[in-house]
Amino acid sequence: MARRTGVLGGGALGLTVAYRLVQAGDEVTVIEREPEPGGLAAGFRVGPSYLEKFYHHLFRSNRTRPRTARRRRLAATPAL
Ligand SMILES: Cc1cc2nc3c(=O)[nH]c(=O)nc-3n(C[C@H](O)[C@H](O)[C@H](O)COP(=O)(O)OP(=O)(O)OC[C@H]3O[C@@H](n4cnc5c(N)ncnc54)[C@H](O)[C@@H]3O)c2cc1C
Repeated sequence: MARRTGVLGGGALGLTVAYRLVQAGDEVTVIEREPEPGGLAAGFRVGPSYLEKFYHHLFRSNRTRPRTARRRRLAATPAL
């Protein structure tokens, strides 16, 4: 009979632990306080794309940072 396990938190760690426990044969319930899993790495849908909640991307509307990146010869790929 499968062991029943609860994992508190549906961030990267909780989801990885849950995945490993399922692989080992456990019946796992992930308890997450937010409506969506993902924690600090969570995203949300914007039209056809996904954006990170805590973003590390550039918007097309960001004028200064892409210009600075070009000056410093860093790759700048605007997300939207
Ligand atoms: C902008 C940004 C860029 C990053 N870039 C990188 C990178 O390049 N490489 C890298 O390795 N890492 C990166 N990180 C860090 C990485 O995202 C985090 O270390 C990782 O997501 C943490 O996962 P976690 O599961 O430990 O914690 P969290 O993501 O914080 O997840 C914890 C979860 O538990 C839930 N929770 C907490 N308390 C309760 C409760 N009492 N009941 C129910 N649910 C609860 C929370 O809602 C949350 O969903 C970045 C983070 C940010 C914000």
